[in-house]
Amino acid sequence: MAKGKRILVVGGVAGGASCAARARRLSEAAEIIIFERGPYVSFANCGLPYYVGEVIKKEENLLVATPELFKQRFNIEVRLRHEVLSIDRANKRIEVHDLTSGATHLEAYDALVLSPGASPIKPPLPGIDSPGIFTVRTIPDSREIREWIDRYQARRAVVVGGGFIGLEMTENLVNRGLSVTIIEMQPQLMPLMDPEMISQVHRHMRRNGVKLRLNETVTGFAQNNGSLSLELKSGEVEAADLVILSVGVRPETRLAKEAGLEIGERGGIKVDDRMRTSDPNIWAVGDAVEVRDVVTGQVGLTPLAGPANRQGRIAADVIFGRDSCFRGVQGTAAVVVFGLAIASTGPTEKMLKKLGLWDDLGKYEKIYLHPGHHAGYYPGASLITFKLIFAKEDGRIISAQAVGNEGVDKRIDVIAMAIQKNATVFDLEEAELSYCPQFGSAKDPINLAGMIAANVLRGDAPIAHSDAVAASGDFILDVRDPPEFANGHIDGAVNIPLNELRDRVHELPRERQILTYCFVGQRSYYANRMLSQRGFQVKNISGGYRTYSMSTSNGVDD
Ligand SMILES: Cc1cc2nc3c(=O)[nH]c(=O)nc-3n(C[C@H](O)[C@H](O)[C@H](O)COP(=O)(O)OP(=O)(O)OC[C@H]3O[C@@H](n4cnc5c(N)ncnc54)[C@H](O)[C@@H]3O)c2cc1C
Repeated sequence: MAKGKRILVVGGVAGGASCAARARRLSEAAEIIIFERGPYVSFANCGLPYYVGEVIKKEENLLVATPELFKQRFNIEVRLRHEVLSIDRANKRIEVHDLTSGATHLEAYDALVLSPGASPIKPPLPGIDSPGIFTVRTIPDSREIREWIDRYQARRAVVVGGGFIGLEMTENLVNRGLSVTIIEMQPQLMPLMDPEMISQVHRHMRRNGVKLRLNETVTGFAQNNGSLSLELKSGEVEAADLVILSVGVRPETRLAKEAGLEIGERGGIKVDDRMRTSDPNIWAVGDAVEVRDVVTGQVGLTPLAGPANRQGRIAADVIFGRDSCFRGVQGTAAVVVFGLAIASTGPTEKMLKKLGLWDDLGKYEKIYLHPGHHAGYYPGASLITFKLIFAKEDGRIISAQAVGNEGVDKRIDVIAMAIQKNATVFDLEEAELSYCPQFGSAKDPINLAGMIAANVLRGDAPIAHSDAVAASGDFILDVRDPPEFANGHIDGAVNIPLNELRDRVHELPRERQILTYCFVGQRSYYANRMLSQRGFQVKNISGGYRTYSMSTSNGVDD
């Protein structure tokens, strides 16, 4: 076999390891070496919170592969505790520091792949380096957290930052018996998602004993008789035995910057859709690179394992002359906390507004629904809170968010694929999805979302939104049964139960816009159809009283 290319990979976890393994599948002749600064290759970063929480009992369960396996199965050399210090692009060489021996040497490459990931942000606050303050990125990080809890019998933890990793760490610390406070600068947890979708998450966290300090910022840390005091912007102080910092990650671009590779506006390594950097012999993948959003066309950072793995594979393909190309990202992500799943795909309303792409009168519309995750007649159905955003012009699906105990991942994944294929709400109406009582309904939540959205676009069921109800001055009609109405209703609403509506239409004003609602929007849709055919001007409040409560309060009762 003729001597093949020499491929060097920097970083041996998600992007780097998948690139190396794919490269071997494409060329038996290539020489492939992975340099990894840390003590492990190809470990499960996503499992780290669960190792802290002792759900994953043994450290070795976090190791997806070992250097021995890479050697035996793929003939790939893995050099652990080897940090790449610099890139000599002119001579196509890298400088490597063996962290065990202290020696430094040069390695030549034909193709270099950078997959250095992203490092947790540590804000430059007073006392930030105090013992007992941790970030979570590596196996040693999570081991240290476990040891700290055990050694100091830690009882109180503060998690700074309420995103994915913050929530996962919170659950695992609670499971270890700690009382946990989350401090979040934004008025909501999961700050990338739409606030009304998260209000029930706040309630769920509180029910599970977690204290939330939203709209709050840490300004410094002090050590205080063996524990930590967190000084807060409000002037208050929070005491802790342990602090987890989960305030985001920053792409590791030092190597690339110093080598003069182009860095994008968002601070990631600039690559084309073949994952090639500004140097034709260097590729970059994973958390360190900037990627294009398939929906908005905007370039940004998307630190997720799926894109990192796919990009690694694509870089290997391109190195070996294949015509592979990265489609872009849509930020499909999920987290489960105390049994509640929160997931999204595509840009949220909040993101679209931030990008200046959301125009209330213009391009996009949103709908809410709260279907059961499977058929209601089969025991155990639970509600999914679902939000779909779509283009008004052609029904193209833009994004979806879902929160619920069961079946959330399946629905978000269907929408994720639909977005990639430029599908419309009319496609969702027609989607043929698996159904049996345990898994779905003959009209799956995906079909229902399509039908509701298509009804809006066809003009069959115009909608109004909860956030605009109060200021609208419209006649508000609640078509639920009186006990439901008595339990809570929109201020000023008139209650006429659906089953009495045909006989009582004379009580409704013909000259005014009527906004109908029920609990989730289904009965009021029937009312809507009945009234519009009788000449009334009606709109359905999308998602009903449940969405209204989510939008106007800090949580709904489930
Ligand atoms: C706690 C946690 C939970 C997560 N959960 C999820 C999840 O549930 N779902 C999801 O999609 N994503 C999750 N992620 C994100 C996901 O792990 C990352 O998006 C993914 O690992 C990125 O892959 P990467 O190859 O770019 O970087 P990494 O996997 O971070 O690998 C980069 C490696 O490069 C090494 N390195 C850096 N510089 C050098 C150098 N100069 N020389 C040698 N080696 C170097 C680093 O030591 C590191 O091991 C989670 C991340 C964390 C930390």
